Amino acid sequence: MKKTLLLILLSISIFSYAQEKKFKLILDAGHGGKDPGAQKNGCTEKVIALDVVLRIGKILEAYPEFDIKYTRTTDVFIPLQDRAKIANDFEADLFVSVHCNSSVSPKPYGAMTLVMGLSRTGMNFEIAKAENAVISLEEDYKEKYEGFDPNNPHTQIGLKIMQEETLMQSIDFASTVQGYFKNSLQRKDLGMHQQPLWVLDATVMPGVLIELGFLSNLEESKYIKSEEGKSNFSQIIARSIIDYKNNLRGTNTVPNVLDIKEPIIETEVLLVSSDSSTVANSTTITPVSIGSGYKVQISFSTKKLELTPENFNGLSNISVAETNGGYKYYYGEGSMETCKKLLAEAKLKGYKTAFIVESK
Ligand SMILES: [Zn+2]
Repeated sequence: MKKTLLLILLSISIFSYAQEKKFKLILDAGHGGKDPGAQKNGCTEKVIALDVVLRIGKILEAYPEFDIKYTRTTDVFIPLQDRAKIANDFEADLFVSVHCNSSVSPKPYGAMTLVMGLSRTGMNFEIAKAENAVISLEEDYKEKYEGFDPNNPHTQIGLKIMQEETLMQSIDFASTVQGYFKNSLQRKDLGMHQQPLWVLDATVMPGVLIELGFLSNLEESKYIKSEEGKSNFSQIIARSIIDYKNNLRGTNTVPNVLDIKEPIIETEVLLVSSDSSTVANSTTITPVSIGSGYKVQISFSTKKLELTPENFNGLSNISVAETNGGYKYYYGEGSMETCKKLLAEAKLKGYKTAFIVESK
């Protein structure tokens, strides 16, 4: 009897602890101080990033569930390493960095969200180089960022299999942000990208870097610096953060102050979307070490699903592994060559963010 009572009391205290545990958020305004970021069409990236970040914070500070920390609230220079340290010391649940894009050509426009990792396509790499360029403004950058060469497209820093879980959560959040950009704001959706970005790779929590749009595109720059643009951006990002927290924690914080259209995304099983456009341009993760056994991870869910084809868009030969807080679902198993074919098949069936992992 005593034992039961103790157990009940314990459960209640664990329950109330979980109820009260705040969602810790880092809001990171890109650049600052001597590092202005992109400067085009009368817009300065560091100014817009800070403005939008402070607006996001103002919206979310109305919710007691959030504990918000800013990497900067004024026009100061913060080294990338310090930004990552602030986030890690705070033990944040999510890291959100706000930036603006720029191109040598005035043509490109649209919004994209970056997650940690490697991308080898030329255009994406140009962005990574620009966003990482600030490192060379720091005096002792050679020691501090040892091994990370933003000019080397083959840098392997993003490929940390250990951070796979974090990456999947980042992708989940990124797809929500892009869904809102596209459906609520009618911005051009440039999708999610994996990038070798130091600030994302050095943080241990899920994190994304949002490029609101191109300052180098005259039309888009006008929208970005407008009151309407900045207000809309901050609302959809705040809303994405609330959605992400609700999904992750199973809470139902109601974003009643935000009257915006729902994004086009699937939320039932994370990373699975029948609408390919919401996860366009996501890249494939290739395992770092060479082994003979691989399988294709197609999704992660907090729900345990029966391994029948009906639950997996018609795919059979599904296996599952229980992990921290959920279940990873895999399609097939075999050599790298086999898995490349299976991966293509899984993507065709709608698992756009599927990737190859080593089978243990
Ligand atoms: Zn930037």
